[in-house]
Amino acid sequence: MADLPLPPGSTLGILGGGQLGRMLSQAASRLGFNVVILDPEENSPAGRVSQGQVIAAYDDPTALQVLGRVAQAVTFEFENVPAASVQTLVESGAEVAPGARALAVAQDRVDEKTFLNSVGATTVDFAAVDSVDDLVAGLERLGVPALLKTRREGYDGKGQVWVRAVSEAADAWNAIDGKPAVLEAKAAFTRELSVIAARGRDGQVAVYPLGENIHEGGVLRTTLAPAKVDRKTDARAREIAAAILNGLDYVGVLGVELFDLGKGVLLVNEIAPRVHNTGHWTQDGCVCDQFEQHIRAVAGWPLGPTEPHARVEMTNLLGDEVDQWTALAAEPDARLHLYGKAEARPGRKMAHVNRVSKL
Ligand code: AMP
Repeated sequence: MADLPLPPGSTLGILGGGQLGRMLSQAASRLGFNVVILDPEENSPAGRVSQGQVIAAYDDPTALQVLGRVAQAVTFEFENVPAASVQTLVESGAEVAPGARALAVAQDRVDEKTFLNSVGATTVDFAAVDSVDDLVAGLERLGVPALLKTRREGYDGKGQVWVRAVSEAADAWNAIDGKPAVLEAKAAFTRELSVIAARGRDGQVAVYPLGENIHEGGVLRTTLAPAKVDRKTDARAREIAAAILNGLDYVGVLGVELFDLGKGVLLVNEIAPRVHNTGHWTQDGCVCDQFEQHIRAVAGWPLGPTEPHARVEMTNLLGDEVDQWTALAAEPDARLHLYGKAEARPGRKMAHVNRVSKL
């Protein structure tokens, strides 16, 4: 195992070569680290700004051994990393952060909700569903409408179906291909918030101000930060973030998606054990952004400041919206972050713009 803190000149490995990996790599590079990306695609957005890329599947044992030997610490930009891959990396000598427990919890919606409630981070009421009978029982207990989600591998609203009557149970079950699922009571939220927080190797916790998020078609469109919240809501969000980080003995940055029910009551929708799209505003609103913060934590460095110095409206540019880059580059208060993706497929996250104003 590597000696911590890792000095500049050390090598970090990142599983995943998308835009999150790219921005992590850029932050790491600014702190003097070398970065090697593991991604099955050649020319990935992260691979092109890093010192090296291993082109292989995320569960390729040889590739993982190579990465674990060259990198003193390894992290990832997505949560569906196979548990066996983490094991191989650890056996090859790398520090892996966040750890196997955080990944396991975030990969399964039932385990995630069970864990969250156990540390006082309340969620909606829910029922584990493995059959149509379970679904009917769940609907009777939780009421309708309720939201059926696959336990594993859902993102951006995929693998989810609203069930509006008990008579729709069989159709809903078929719509998610009869996969193990969770049924969730409907959250009566007024808005969606998120909190980005970090925990260092020494247990130090740092929490950014809340962001308010607007989705379109299940995909994040805009984050406004710092969100306008009362003191009670702010304090509750910080408390929730710390409970989750400490409960998982977490190292790195974590994203927590919240439903705001008003009067300081927050429910956790889900957690992401990584840097998060709703934290991109920190690049232009804080001295130490979420990417640098994550690298600091993984490398065993002290965490950076999370105080905002500006208000930011972050907007995702999807598909051919990225063609507006000249107009955006000409806006005086806009900072454009392009991911270097060659192909602008419809709905693909191509870039984001942070529009900055005074606090
Ligand atoms: P998720 O994939 O779990 O992040 O859900 C995607 C979106 O669906 C969320 O951002 C919410 O807008 C909505 N949603 C998810 N779960 C619930 C729920 N239990 N009640 C109401 N809306 C929900």
